[in-house]
Amino acid sequence: MKNFLAVIAVFWACACVSVDQNMIETRQSPEISFNDPSCQIKTRETAHFLIKACDFQTADNYAALAERFYDRVMQDANLYSFVPRNPYEIKVYSGKSEYISVSKAQSWSGGLTAGNMILTYPSSSAGAIMAHEITHLILNEFMEDYSSSNLFIAEGLAVYQERQASAESDYYYKTLIDKYVKPSPIPFIEMASFRPGKDAKSDYISKWYAQCSSVVEYLIKREGSFRFSIFLKNIKRGYDLDSALKDAYPGIFADYRDLEKKWLSWI
Ligand SMILES: [Zn+2]
Repeated sequence: MKNFLAVIAVFWACACVSVDQNMIETRQSPEISFNDPSCQIKTRETAHFLIKACDFQTADNYAALAERFYDRVMQDANLYSFVPRNPYEIKVYSGKSEYISVSKAQSWSGGLTAGNMILTYPSSSAGAIMAHEITHLILNEFMEDYSSSNLFIAEGLAVYQERQASAESDYYYKTLIDKYVKPSPIPFIEMASFRPGKDAKSDYISKWYAQCSSVVEYLIKREGSFRFSIFLKNIKRGYDLDSALKDAYPGIFADYRDLEKKWLSWI
């Protein structure tokens, strides 16, 4: 089974990465700048993206993927009122070797988000990668939190988007949920504070990603996008998890334990 997390990398402030633990998304500071593809660049500008690729067909393909997944995130998270300050840039390198060389990502990585930019190269997993990374682009800017301190929400939404974009990815995560999450879910308080790092086992990290996506799926499918957007705004305002839930889901979740109980009976 292909490991989808292994092809995704996101940069954040601490580069707490272990090469042998390829489940972990690589992260570094969003301030780092990256060279453009070395070919004669062809660009495509859409409503929300500037694509730089080595040929127009690739640029067009990525432009279509980017706008489609942008709409999907906006719809699922009900963030239509949010307008990005600038177009997001997507650099599509000629191939894996140039991408790895410029990004300094691990050899398994197929794409990464750095601040308001995605770096990637054409591959058969382009849909899954773009769906995941575009979620990070939007949440990074909307939450004004490029360090992803509320990682379980960002990764939950990103993996949920990835699952909707790719049947293979959906099958992979559904299998993890059935085999590992249902019989032994990660306690919510542990899930909410966990950050994938070198000290964690890769099995646990994959289970955590699967569980986070299931919790976000539950919130969006069962309680709707409107309440989910209020929940996100509350987290952005600095509410703790209980207050953010109670305010966004009045009479539904009194605290995180309530959500945990109801989600468990849903899965
Ligand atoms: Zn991610």
